[in-house]
Amino acid sequence: MMKNPKPTLLTFYIALSIATTVALIVFVLDRNIKNSAIVFLATGPVAYFFIYNALQTFIYRKIKLIYKSIHNLKLGKDNAFGEHLSDDPVNDVEQEVEDWARTKRKEIDDLKRMEQFRKEFLANVSHELKTPLFSLQGYIHTLIDGADEEPEIRKKFLEKSADNIERLCNLVDDLSEISHLERGEVSVAKETFDINKLVKEVFDSLEPQATEKQISFSIKKGCDHSFLVLADRERIRQVLTNLLVNSIKYGRTHGETTVGFYDMDENILTEVSDNGIGIDEEHLPRLFERFYRVDKHRSRDAGGTGLGLAIVKHLIESQGGVINVRSTTGIGSTFGFTLRKSKEK
Ligand code: ADP
Repeated sequence: MMKNPKPTLLTFYIALSIATTVALIVFVLDRNIKNSAIVFLATGPVAYFFIYNALQTFIYRKIKLIYKSIHNLKLGKDNAFGEHLSDDPVNDVEQEVEDWARTKRKEIDDLKRMEQFRKEFLANVSHELKTPLFSLQGYIHTLIDGADEEPEIRKKFLEKSADNIERLCNLVDDLSEISHLERGEVSVAKETFDINKLVKEVFDSLEPQATEKQISFSIKKGCDHSFLVLADRERIRQVLTNLLVNSIKYGRTHGETTVGFYDMDENILTEVSDNGIGIDEEHLPRLFERFYRVDKHRSRDAGGTGLGLAIVKHLIESQGGVINVRSTTGIGSTFGFTLRKSKEK
Protein backbone atom coordinates (compact mmCIF):
# COMPACT_ATOMS: atom_id res chain seq x y z
CA MET A 1 0.00 0.00 0.00
CA MET A 2 1.08 3.54 -0.68
CA LYS A 3 1.83 5.54 2.46
CA ASN A 4 0.85 9.20 2.27
CA PRO A 5 0.82 9.51 -1.56
CA LYS A 6 1.21 13.00 -3.00
CA PRO A 7 -2.06 14.50 -4.34
CA THR A 8 -0.81 14.28 -7.95
CA LEU A 9 0.12 10.61 -7.61
CA LEU A 10 -3.13 9.74 -5.85
CA THR A 11 -5.12 11.55 -8.58
CA PHE A 12 -3.11 9.77 -11.27
CA TYR A 13 -3.94 6.32 -9.88
CA ILE A 14 -7.65 7.10 -9.45
CA ALA A 15 -7.87 8.61 -12.98
CA LEU A 16 -6.00 5.59 -14.38
CA SER A 17 -8.46 3.18 -12.68
CA ILE A 18 -11.48 5.12 -13.99
CA ALA A 19 -10.09 5.40 -17.55
CA THR A 20 -9.23 1.67 -17.60
CA THR A 21 -12.68 0.66 -16.31
CA VAL A 22 -14.51 2.86 -18.85
CA ALA A 23 -12.25 1.60 -21.71
CA LEU A 24 -12.94 -2.01 -20.67
CA ILE A 25 -16.72 -1.43 -20.61
CA VAL A 26 -16.53 0.15 -24.10
CA PHE A 27 -14.44 -2.80 -25.34
CA VAL A 28 -16.94 -5.37 -23.93
CA LEU A 29 -19.87 -3.53 -25.59
CA ASP A 30 -18.17 -2.54 -28.85
CA ARG A 31 -15.40 -5.18 -29.32
CA ASN A 32 -13.32 -2.43 -30.97
CA ILE A 33 -9.84 -1.92 -29.52
CA LYS A 34 -9.33 1.41 -31.31
CA ASN A 35 -12.50 2.95 -29.84
CA SER A 36 -11.50 1.63 -26.40
CA ALA A 37 -8.08 3.27 -26.70
CA ILE A 38 -9.66 6.61 -27.72
CA VAL A 39 -12.06 6.42 -24.77
CA PHE A 40 -9.14 5.58 -22.47
CA LEU A 41 -7.05 8.52 -23.69
CA ALA A 42 -9.99 10.92 -23.48
CA THR A 43 -11.29 9.79 -20.07
CA GLY A 44 -7.88 9.73 -18.35
CA PRO A 45 -6.99 13.48 -18.50
CA VAL A 46 -10.61 14.57 -17.91
CA ALA A 47 -10.86 12.31 -14.82
CA TYR A 48 -7.45 13.53 -13.67
CA PHE A 49 -8.53 17.17 -13.98
CA PHE A 50 -11.78 16.73 -12.07
CA ILE A 51 -10.39 14.48 -9.35
CA TYR A 52 -7.37 16.70 -8.77
CA ASN A 53 -9.58 19.78 -8.35
CA ALA A 54 -11.98 17.91 -6.09
CA LEU A 55 -9.15 16.67 -3.88
CA GLN A 56 -7.65 20.18 -3.68
CA THR A 57 -10.97 21.80 -2.87
CA PHE A 58 -12.38 19.29 -0.41
CA ILE A 59 -9.42 17.65 1.24
CA TYR A 60 -6.00 19.23 0.77
CA ARG A 61 -7.09 22.83 1.31
CA LYS A 62 -8.66 21.76 4.58
CA ILE A 63 -5.51 19.88 5.56
CA LYS A 64 -3.47 22.97 4.72
CA LEU A 65 -5.69 24.96 7.07
CA ILE A 66 -5.03 22.44 9.86
CA TYR A 67 -1.34 22.64 9.05
CA LYS A 68 -1.47 26.42 9.30
CA SER A 69 -3.20 26.24 12.69
CA ILE A 70 -0.54 23.84 13.98
CA HIS A 71 2.16 26.21 12.76
CA ASN A 72 0.55 29.13 14.52
CA LEU A 73 0.40 27.12 17.73
CA LYS A 74 4.03 26.17 17.58
CA LEU A 75 6.10 28.80 19.32
CA GLY A 76 8.46 30.73 17.11
CA LYS A 77 7.17 29.19 13.91
CA ASP A 78 4.27 31.57 13.35
CA ASN A 79 5.77 33.04 10.24
CA ALA A 80 7.10 29.84 8.84
CA PHE A 81 3.85 28.85 7.13
CA GLY A 82 4.22 29.00 3.40
CA GLU A 83 8.01 28.66 3.41
CA HIS A 84 7.80 25.14 4.80
CA LEU A 85 4.80 23.96 2.88
CA SER A 86 5.67 21.34 0.28
CA ASP A 87 3.36 19.84 -2.33
CA ASP A 88 2.72 16.97 0.08
CA PRO A 89 0.59 18.51 2.83
CA VAL A 90 -0.46 15.16 4.35
CA ASN A 91 3.14 14.26 5.04
CA ASP A 92 3.84 17.79 6.29
CA VAL A 93 0.92 17.62 8.70
CA GLU A 94 2.00 14.21 10.00
CA GLN A 95 5.54 15.49 10.58
CA GLU A 96 4.35 18.68 12.21
CA VAL A 97 1.94 16.87 14.54
CA GLU A 98 4.67 14.42 15.58
CA ASP A 99 7.13 17.27 16.30
CA TRP A 100 4.52 19.25 18.12
CA ALA A 101 3.40 16.30 20.26
CA ARG A 102 7.04 15.51 21.15
CA THR A 103 7.73 19.12 22.22
CA LYS A 104 4.52 19.32 24.22
CA ARG A 105 5.20 15.97 25.93
CA LYS A 106 8.65 17.22 26.95
CA GLU A 107 7.22 20.51 28.24
CA ILE A 108 4.60 18.64 30.27
CA ASP A 109 7.22 16.26 31.71
CA ASP A 110 9.44 19.23 32.66
CA LEU A 111 6.52 21.01 34.33
CA LYS A 112 5.58 17.86 36.25
CA ARG A 113 9.17 17.40 37.40
CA MET A 114 9.39 21.03 38.52
CA GLU A 115 6.10 20.72 40.38
CA GLN A 116 7.38 17.59 42.13
CA PHE A 117 10.63 19.42 42.94
CA ARG A 118 8.73 22.34 44.43
CA LYS A 119 6.56 20.06 46.57
CA GLU A 120 9.57 18.11 47.84
CA PHE A 121 11.46 21.33 48.53
CA LEU A 122 8.60 22.78 50.60
CA ALA A 123 8.20 19.51 52.53
CA ASN A 124 11.95 19.42 53.20
CA VAL A 125 12.12 23.06 54.33
CA SER A 126 9.23 22.67 56.74
CA HIS A 127 10.68 19.43 58.10
CA GLU A 128 14.13 20.99 58.56
CA LEU A 129 12.61 23.98 60.38
CA LYS A 130 10.32 21.87 62.51
CA THR A 131 13.02 19.64 64.02
CA PRO A 132 15.10 22.36 65.77
CA LEU A 133 12.01 24.40 66.61
CA PHE A 134 10.33 21.48 68.40
CA SER A 135 13.55 20.71 70.30
CA LEU A 136 13.81 24.36 71.34
CA GLN A 137 10.20 24.37 72.45
CA GLY A 138 10.84 21.24 74.56
CA TYR A 139 13.97 22.64 76.27
CA ILE A 140 12.40 25.99 77.03
CA HIS A 141 9.22 24.49 78.45
CA THR A 142 11.26 22.15 80.64
CA LEU A 143 13.24 25.14 81.91
CA ILE A 144 10.04 27.08 82.62
CA ASP A 145 8.61 24.05 84.42
CA GLY A 146 11.39 24.11 86.98
CA ALA A 147 14.51 22.46 85.52
CA ASP A 148 16.20 25.85 85.81
CA GLU A 149 16.49 25.29 89.55
CA GLU A 150 19.27 22.77 89.02
CA PRO A 151 22.25 24.68 87.62
CA GLU A 152 23.71 21.72 85.73
CA ILE A 153 20.50 20.80 83.95
CA ARG A 154 19.83 24.45 83.24
CA LYS A 155 23.27 24.83 81.63
CA LYS A 156 22.80 21.66 79.57
CA PHE A 157 19.38 22.73 78.33
CA LEU A 158 20.54 26.23 77.52
CA GLU A 159 23.49 24.82 75.56
CA LYS A 160 21.17 22.52 73.64
CA SER A 161 18.85 25.44 72.93
CA ALA A 162 21.81 27.46 71.65
CA ASP A 163 22.79 24.55 69.35
CA ASN A 164 19.30 24.42 67.90
CA ILE A 165 19.22 28.17 67.36
CA GLU A 166 22.54 27.90 65.55
CA ARG A 167 21.12 25.14 63.38
CA LEU A 168 18.13 27.33 62.53
CA CYS A 169 20.42 30.23 61.67
CA ASN A 170 22.59 28.00 59.44
CA LEU A 171 19.51 26.70 57.68
CA VAL A 172 18.08 30.17 57.06
CA ASP A 173 21.49 31.39 55.80
CA ASP A 174 21.84 28.43 53.43
CA LEU A 175 18.27 28.80 52.21
CA SER A 176 18.71 32.46 51.41
CA GLU A 177 22.04 31.71 49.71
CA ILE A 178 20.53 29.01 47.53
CA SER A 179 17.53 31.13 46.60
CA HIS A 180 19.88 33.97 45.52
CA LEU A 181 21.93 31.53 43.48
CA GLU A 182 18.91 29.95 41.85
CA ARG A 183 17.52 33.33 40.89
CA GLY A 184 20.87 34.20 39.38
CA GLU A 185 21.20 37.24 41.63
CA VAL A 186 24.79 36.58 42.58
CA SER A 187 27.33 38.77 40.90
CA VAL A 188 30.49 37.03 39.87
CA ALA A 189 33.61 39.14 40.33
CA LYS A 190 36.29 37.48 38.23
CA GLU A 191 39.85 38.05 39.32
CA THR A 192 43.15 36.25 38.98
CA PHE A 193 44.35 34.52 42.13
CA ASP A 194 46.44 31.59 43.28
CA ILE A 195 44.08 28.80 44.34
CA ASN A 196 46.85 27.01 46.27
CA LYS A 197 47.23 30.11 48.46
CA LEU A 198 43.47 30.31 48.98
CA VAL A 199 43.31 26.64 50.02
CA LYS A 200 45.99 27.29 52.66
CA GLU A 201 43.97 30.25 53.99
CA VAL A 202 40.92 28.00 54.32
CA PHE A 203 43.08 25.30 56.00
CA ASP A 204 44.07 27.92 58.61
CA SER A 205 40.51 29.08 59.22
CA LEU A 206 39.34 25.49 59.79
CA GLU A 207 42.30 24.47 61.93
CA PRO A 208 40.33 24.43 65.23
CA GLN A 209 37.63 22.09 63.82
CA ALA A 210 40.23 19.84 62.18
CA THR A 211 42.33 19.65 65.35
CA GLU A 212 39.26 18.73 67.38
CA LYS A 213 38.87 15.61 65.22
CA GLN A 214 42.63 15.20 64.78
CA ILE A 215 42.38 15.47 61.03
CA SER A 216 45.42 16.75 59.18
CA PHE A 217 45.22 18.99 56.12
CA SER A 218 47.86 18.92 53.40
CA ILE A 219 48.57 19.85 49.79
CA LYS A 220 49.21 16.84 47.55
CA LYS A 221 52.87 16.10 46.81
CA GLY A 222 54.10 17.77 43.64
CA CYS A 223 51.21 20.29 43.65
CA ASP A 224 52.54 22.76 46.19
CA HIS A 225 53.13 25.70 43.86
CA SER A 226 51.12 28.52 42.38
CA PHE A 227 48.02 27.71 40.24
CA LEU A 228 46.49 30.89 38.86
CA VAL A 229 42.76 30.78 38.17
CA LEU A 230 40.25 33.34 36.96
CA ALA A 231 37.20 33.27 39.26
CA ASP A 232 35.43 34.96 42.14
CA ARG A 233 37.86 34.45 45.05
CA GLU A 234 35.28 34.79 47.85
CA ARG A 235 32.87 32.38 46.18
CA ILE A 236 35.65 29.82 45.77
CA ARG A 237 36.60 30.31 49.42
CA GLN A 238 33.00 29.34 50.25
CA VAL A 239 33.24 26.25 48.00
CA LEU A 240 36.51 25.14 49.59
CA THR A 241 35.16 25.78 53.08
CA ASN A 242 32.07 23.62 52.43
CA LEU A 243 34.12 20.77 50.95
CA LEU A 244 36.76 20.88 53.68
CA VAL A 245 34.14 21.10 56.47
CA ASN A 246 32.49 18.00 54.96
CA SER A 247 35.84 16.21 54.91
CA ILE A 248 36.02 16.84 58.66
CA LYS A 249 32.36 16.01 59.38
CA TYR A 250 32.46 12.77 57.40
CA GLY A 251 36.12 12.04 58.02
CA ARG A 252 37.52 9.60 60.54
CA THR A 253 39.39 10.62 63.71
CA HIS A 254 43.13 10.89 62.88
CA GLY A 255 42.12 11.12 59.22
CA GLU A 256 43.76 13.04 56.41
CA THR A 257 42.41 15.53 53.91
CA THR A 258 44.54 16.31 50.88
CA VAL A 259 44.03 18.95 48.21
CA GLY A 260 45.60 18.52 44.78
CA PHE A 261 45.70 20.71 41.65
CA TYR A 262 45.94 19.57 38.04
CA ASP A 263 46.63 21.63 34.93
CA MET A 264 44.01 20.68 32.33
CA ASP A 265 44.90 22.94 29.39
CA GLU A 266 42.21 25.63 29.66
CA ASN A 267 41.22 24.77 33.23
CA ILE A 268 42.66 23.97 36.64
CA LEU A 269 41.15 20.96 38.36
CA THR A 270 41.14 21.12 42.17
CA GLU A 271 40.51 17.90 44.09
CA VAL A 272 39.64 17.62 47.79
CA SER A 273 40.22 14.03 49.00
CA ASP A 274 39.55 12.51 52.39
CA ASN A 275 39.95 9.03 53.83
CA GLY A 276 36.64 9.21 55.71
CA ILE A 277 33.45 7.13 55.71
CA GLY A 278 32.97 7.40 51.94
CA ILE A 279 29.67 7.30 50.05
CA ASP A 280 27.94 4.32 48.51
CA GLU A 281 27.78 4.46 44.71
CA GLU A 282 23.96 4.49 44.64
CA HIS A 283 23.93 7.92 46.37
CA LEU A 284 26.46 9.64 44.12
CA PRO A 285 24.10 10.74 41.30
CA ARG A 286 21.83 12.61 43.75
CA LEU A 287 24.48 13.97 46.11
CA PHE A 288 24.32 17.56 44.81
CA GLU A 289 20.53 17.80 45.16
CA ARG A 290 19.09 20.10 47.81
CA PHE A 291 18.58 18.30 51.14
CA TYR A 292 19.98 15.03 49.87
CA ARG A 293 21.84 13.24 52.65
CA VAL A 294 23.27 9.76 52.87
CA ASP A 295 22.89 9.48 56.63
CA LYS A 296 20.37 12.03 57.93
CA HIS A 297 21.21 11.56 61.61
CA ARG A 298 24.93 11.86 61.12
CA SER A 299 24.49 14.99 58.99
CA ARG A 300 22.16 16.66 61.52
CA ASP A 301 24.32 15.69 64.48
CA ALA A 302 27.25 17.30 62.70
CA GLY A 303 25.19 20.48 62.23
CA GLY A 304 24.58 19.91 58.49
CA THR A 305 21.70 21.52 56.62
CA GLY A 306 21.85 19.21 53.61
CA LEU A 307 22.29 22.26 51.35
CA GLY A 308 26.09 22.56 51.36
CA LEU A 309 26.82 20.56 48.21
CA ALA A 310 23.85 22.05 46.32
CA ILE A 311 25.33 25.51 47.06
CA VAL A 312 28.81 24.34 46.02
CA LYS A 313 27.47 23.06 42.69
CA HIS A 314 25.64 26.33 41.99
CA LEU A 315 28.73 28.37 42.88
CA ILE A 316 31.03 26.34 40.64
CA GLU A 317 28.58 26.41 37.74
CA SER A 318 28.13 30.18 38.14
CA GLN A 319 31.90 30.43 37.46
CA GLY A 320 31.59 28.27 34.36
CA GLY A 321 33.14 25.21 36.02
CA VAL A 322 31.96 21.66 36.67
CA ILE A 323 32.01 19.56 39.82
CA ASN A 324 32.10 15.80 40.30
CA VAL A 325 32.61 13.23 43.01
CA ARG A 326 34.25 9.82 43.31
CA SER A 327 33.87 7.81 46.46
CA THR A 328 34.14 4.34 47.97
CA THR A 329 32.44 3.36 51.20
CA GLY A 330 34.95 2.94 54.00
CA ILE A 331 37.84 4.26 51.89
CA GLY A 332 37.08 7.93 51.30
CA SER A 333 35.78 10.56 48.89
CA THR A 334 37.22 12.95 46.34
CA PHE A 335 35.37 16.06 45.20
CA GLY A 336 36.85 17.71 42.11
CA PHE A 337 35.94 20.99 40.44
CA THR A 338 37.32 22.94 37.49
CA LEU A 339 38.00 26.65 37.20
CA ARG A 340 39.20 28.67 34.24
CA LYS A 341 42.98 29.01 34.15
CA SER A 342 44.18 32.61 34.25
CA LYS A 343 46.25 33.78 31.29
CA GLU A 344 48.16 36.21 33.52
CA LYS A 345 51.66 35.15 34.45
P1 ADP B 1 25.22 18.25 54.91
O1 ADP B 1 24.82 19.52 55.52
O2 ADP B 1 24.30 17.11 55.24
O3 ADP B 1 26.65 17.92 55.13
P2 ADP B 1 25.92 18.51 52.11
O4 ADP B 1 25.10 19.00 50.99
O5 ADP B 1 27.18 19.22 52.40
O6 ADP B 1 24.96 18.49 53.36
O7 ADP B 1 26.26 16.99 51.85
C1 ADP B 1 25.23 16.11 51.45
C2 ADP B 1 25.51 14.69 51.95
O8 ADP B 1 26.63 14.18 51.25
C3 ADP B 1 25.89 14.63 53.41
O9 ADP B 1 24.76 14.51 54.23
C4 ADP B 1 26.75 13.37 53.46
O10 ADP B 1 25.92 12.25 53.59
C5 ADP B 1 27.40 13.33 52.08
N1 ADP B 1 28.79 13.84 52.07
C6 ADP B 1 29.22 15.07 51.73
N2 ADP B 1 30.56 15.17 51.80
C7 ADP B 1 30.99 13.96 52.19
C8 ADP B 1 32.30 13.41 52.44
N3 ADP B 1 33.42 14.14 52.30
N4 ADP B 1 32.37 12.11 52.83
C9 ADP B 1 31.25 11.37 52.98
N5 ADP B 1 30.00 11.82 52.75
C10 ADP B 1 29.87 13.11 52.37
